[in-house]
Amino acid sequence: MSCKRCDLSRTRINPVFGEGSENAEIMFIGEAPGSNEDKQGRPFVGRAGKILDELLASIDLEREDVYIANILKCRPPNNRNPERGEIESCTEYLDAQIEMISPKVLVPLGNFAFQYLFQKYGLNAEKISVVHGKIFKKTTLFGTVYIVPMYHPAVATYNPNKKVILLDDIKVLFEVLKK
Ligand code: URA
Repeated sequence: MSCKRCDLSRTRINPVFGEGSENAEIMFIGEAPGSNEDKQGRPFVGRAGKILDELLASIDLEREDVYIANILKCRPPNNRNPERGEIESCTEYLDAQIEMISPKVLVPLGNFAFQYLFQKYGLNAEKISVVHGKIFKKTTLFGTVYIVPMYHPAVATYNPNKKVILLDDIKVLFEVLKK
């Protein structure tokens, strides 16, 4: 991937496209690569990734069972927030990934992914603090997709209460997979 659609291509080391099973029923969508991801070219391999692995293990899943992508494929300098223009030029890739994997459930991690998916599927964007761990259903041309917003795992690295919420919210995926 040698994309130069936005200026992040000048500062990134590696683009981080995403990884996991092409047959995944669950697709997690984070915000953007951080420093470790930028170095390795793989999503969620740093501290937030460790939390994501723990969350997956808590429901007996491994990374290989799911698909993991991000809103932005390249690291914003100093991990600043994604900018609107970057999101606009990058999410064509994410849309293609969603179409290709066609997962049963999409799990936006954190506010940026949550806002993007809710807009994409025409859902009312409330606050993530209100909608986390809830199941939203949307019928599209490609079938029915469930969306379960969750807090970004990075919040659990500085707020242990959020980890308890994340561990609770991820259990909702059992319920969705039974549908
Ligand atoms: N945070 C994200 O949102 N994505 C990653 O890949 C790593 C950290």
